[in-house]
Amino acid sequence: TQKMRSKIVAGNWKMNKNSAETEALLTELAAKLPDTQAEVMVAPTFVNLQSAVKQLESSTIEVIAQNMHFGESGAYTGEISADMLLDIGIDTVIIGHSERRAYFGETDEILAKKVKTALKKNMRVMFCFGEELDDRKSENHFNVVETQLKNALFSLDASAWTSIILAYEPVWAIGTGETASPEQAQEMHAFIRKTITDAYDTSIATNVSILYGGSVKPANAEEIFSKPDVDGGLIGGASLVADDFVAIIEAI
Ligand code: PGA
Repeated sequence: TQKMRSKIVAGNWKMNKNSAETEALLTELAAKLPDTQAEVMVAPTFVNLQSAVKQLESSTIEVIAQNMHFGESGAYTGEISADMLLDIGIDTVIIGHSERRAYFGETDEILAKKVKTALKKNMRVMFCFGEELDDRKSENHFNVVETQLKNALFSLDASAWTSIILAYEPVWAIGTGETASPEQAQEMHAFIRKTITDAYDTSIATNVSILYGGSVKPANAEEIFSKPDVDGGLIGGASLVADDFVAIIEAI
């Protein structure tokens, strides 16, 4: 699937919701989904992906995966391949979430491989990155973000960028209740576009969707989304409550 810059609200459910809870939340979401130009996505756990896809067959809500392995198939105990996701109707995958980096040792090098495999399989990649609190305190945040992008994405062909969605998620704002201010988000998103312009060109930088993630909630979504370089959000905690997620969709 190849898409140009669009508004996107995606819910990352992380390791939450059993099968009955998944079905219930999707039922409520589908019923309450507002009329919107934005693409709405949800990422339930692997074990509930297939039922979620079936349940949302006639909905515009897209089911996406939280992760995948870079290998094609074979001896990777416990892992899920791109082909397995495609087989059940999933063609968008989150790669590089800070929890994968921090708790599961996913390095830029591993992430670059995952991105490559996903793109080779014609999947869309939602690539996550962002600095830690110490990086920001030491005013190193722009360098860190630039390096993360460079290491995982800047060896891609220009044509690959129509299949990339970026999600800037400052680690200090994830699940902490602390959001980047709308100005901090805008400043970083503008920097990301400039970095992409330098590595590629203006058209790629202008056409890529850049989401903000980190404690987005109904109360702050509208202001964050109003910034010119913020194209939407990747939502954790607030995506687990239908009314909150719907309110965030309404804010875009
Ligand atoms: P949060 O998570 O909204 O709970 O801060 C965001 C994310 O991890 O994608």
